[in-house]
Amino acid sequence: MASSSYFELLGAWLGRCDQSHNCSKCKEGTNTTLPTRVIYVGDPNPDILVLLCSAELDASSDRRYIALSYCWGNLESGAENRFCTNSQNLHHRLKSFSIKELPKTLQDAVRVTQNLGVQFLWIDSLCILQDKDKKDWEPEVPRMEDVFASAYCTMAATSATNSSGGFLERHSESRFIQVQDGPGRMLYVCEDVEDFDNDVENAVLKTRGWVLQERVLSRRTIHLSKNQTYWECGEGVHCENLTRLESPSLGYKRYFLLDPEFPDRLLQSGYRRTVDFIHFLFEHYSKRDLTYKTDKVVAISALEARIARTLKCEKRYGIFERFLHQTLLWQSPGKEKMERIDYKIQDVLSWSWMAYNGGLKFVDIPFFTAGWIKHLRFDEMRKNALVTEVGRFWDCRMKQKATQCAILDSEGTKIGSLQYDVEGGADIHFHRYVVVGRRRGEYYILVVKPRIMGDEYERIGVGMIHANYVSRERVDVRIV
Ligand SMILES: [Zn+2]
Repeated sequence: MASSSYFELLGAWLGRCDQSHNCSKCKEGTNTTLPTRVIYVGDPNPDILVLLCSAELDASSDRRYIALSYCWGNLESGAENRFCTNSQNLHHRLKSFSIKELPKTLQDAVRVTQNLGVQFLWIDSLCILQDKDKKDWEPEVPRMEDVFASAYCTMAATSATNSSGGFLERHSESRFIQVQDGPGRMLYVCEDVEDFDNDVENAVLKTRGWVLQERVLSRRTIHLSKNQTYWECGEGVHCENLTRLESPSLGYKRYFLLDPEFPDRLLQSGYRRTVDFIHFLFEHYSKRDLTYKTDKVVAISALEARIARTLKCEKRYGIFERFLHQTLLWQSPGKEKMERIDYKIQDVLSWSWMAYNGGLKFVDIPFFTAGWIKHLRFDEMRKNALVTEVGRFWDCRMKQKATQCAILDSEGTKIGSLQYDVEGGADIHFHRYVVVGRRRGEYYILVVKPRIMGDEYERIGVGMIHANYVSRERVDVRIV
C-alpha cells in the first residue's frame, strides 16, 4: 500500500494546478455535470461504497469526481458478472456494497480517490450496466466526452495490465543517497529514473483504443505507471521524483494531447498543424487494440465529435468535411491487405479507414503546393456516401508487387503508383479513379471499382498518376 506522503504528493499536484494553472479554469461551469451514475466513496467506513444516480444528488453538494482510465484485460470466465454492475446486482449496489466485490485495480482507484478527499469516482464497468443487450451502454457512449472532460481529474492505471493487477503496490523503489552540504542542509540525490515515453506512452494502457480519447479529453491526468507516478496537465508533466518535463520539449503534436484548451487551440494553430495533428491522432488510434473490433467507431467518437464542433464542420467515420481531401487519402501502412470489419448494424462505408481492421497511414503530401478538387462532397441524399466524378486510366498498364503497383506507359516508363490495400484483385482496366488532389501535373487519387448495381463505386486503394494518363468518364456518382 502506498504511503501517506505519496498521497500528499498527489494532493499537492492537484492543489497547485487548481490554484495557479489555467488547466481547469477554462472549463469552469462544466464541473457541475455529473455522469449518469457515480460511486460514492466518502462513507465513514472506507470499505463501504454506494452506487449513486446523480440525478438524485442535492444540487449544492460537492460534485467533483475522479474518472478512471484503465485496461479491463482478460480475466477468468465469470469475472465480468461478478465485478461489473448489471441489471441483477444494480439494486444491491444502489443500497451499498463492499469494496471487496471489486478487482484489485478498481479497489486501488477507490483508495486513491478517498485519499485525495474526493467523494465520487466514475468507472465505466461499475457505472454503466454491462448487460449483454447493451441497452444502458449505447446512450452512454456519446456522454463519454463529458465524463472525462468534466472530471476533476483522471486517474490512469497505466501499469495495471488488467482489472485484477492493481497499481498501488510497486516493487521498484528509487535508490537514493543522502548528502550534507556546508551549512548542514540534507540533500537527497536519486537516480534519474523518469521515462515518460516508456512508462506512459508505450505502456499497456496506451495500446487500448478507448484510452486515447479518455486522455485527450481529460483536463489533467495522474498516470500511475510501473516505475513512477506522473502528473500531466496543460503546464507539462511532473514526475514523482520531483523533476518536470515541460510541454514544448514534448513536441507540438503531443502538446495538443495535454493542452487544456484542446481542441480550441487547433483553430489557432494554423491549417497545416491542424491537419498534421488529426493525422497523428488517427494513425495513433488505429494501431491500438480493441476487445471488439466493432468498437473502432465508438471508442473515439466523443473526441471526434468535439474536434468537429471546434472546426464547425460535419464529420463521418473519421473524415472531417473541412479537411475532406486530406483525411480521405489514407492507406494501409504495410504490405498486407486490410480486413473489413463486419459492423452488422452500422453503415461504415469503404472510403472510411474505420471500415477496416488494423493501423493506417495518411498519404504524405506537400501541403502548400497541392490543390484540392472541388467536386468531391458528402452526399446529402444518401447519408455517408460521397458524391464525385470518376474517370478511367488511359494508355497505361500495371506492374504489380504484392499490394503495390507501378503504373507504366506503353513504353514502360513509370508514370504513377497504386496501392491496393483491401481484399480483391488489382486490374487497372476494370477499375476507375477519383481525383482528390493535384500537384505539378500529378493527381492524388482513390482507386474505386464499380458495384454491380447502379451508379455506385467502392474504394479499393489509393495512388498517384500523371494527369496525361487519365480521362474523366462520369459525374455525380456515389462512393459507398
Ligand atoms: Zn495544471
